[in-house]
Amino acid sequence: MSDRGIEQGIPFVVAAPSGTGKTTVCRKVVEQEERISFSVSHTTRRKRDGEVDGRDYCFVDEPEFRRLVAEDAFLEWAEYNAHLYGTSWEAIDRGLAGGRDVLLEIEVQGARQVRARRADARLIFLLPPSMRELERRLQGRGTDSRDEIRRRLDVANRELEAIRDFDYAVTNDELDSCVANLLAIIRAERDGSVGALRERFSPALAEEKFRAPRVPPA
Ligand code: 5GP
Repeated sequence: MSDRGIEQGIPFVVAAPSGTGKTTVCRKVVEQEERISFSVSHTTRRKRDGEVDGRDYCFVDEPEFRRLVAEDAFLEWAEYNAHLYGTSWEAIDRGLAGGRDVLLEIEVQGARQVRARRADARLIFLLPPSMRELERRLQGRGTDSRDEIRRRLDVANRELEAIRDFDYAVTNDELDSCVANLLAIIRAERDGSVGALRERFSPALAEEKFRAPRVPPA
């Protein structure tokens, strides 16, 4: 049962192992669905070229971040790659204003905290087509050393263990169909017509398929 009122928007959380293509997928979803916008997180990492404070992130230093944690300003927060990231209650409320939905593009530990603290949230796990394909994509980025790729694959394996805490699992094997599947889930949750989609994108089934040994082509 949802605890939201009729006019209340829904917080959608999308999490995925690094290299799954989550950022690209989420950007396209927000571009194509005007009723949903990104929640703007806080982070202690440095601003990258082209990023804007208050639009991409609220960039803060670590003492400020810790002060906000102590004040319970965050719905969830986590350490990732030696930096802190968190979603403030305020970011969610701002996103949900006027009955709009909000999209949290966050890593897996944070998603589990949202599950525990926000009953109206809907959690979507994005899966790469296979571990082999994830490895190939990480290699293709050309940004990580062999050790770093190994480390990311280990993390991905551990993150996958959280998949059953999610409401849906969607495989990112082809960008446009992945975006279409996310949009279908978002719209169905809004209309309360999710039955078939819950089965089609069941995390338990996706995990089974993902972990099943692949049959080599004949
Ligand atoms: P990046 O530094 O590349 O922007 O993000 C690094 C990772 O942190 C990504 O997996 C991103 O989804 C995640 N992330 C961004 N904002 C938040 C947040 O507010 N909370 C959590 N838990 N993770 C976040």
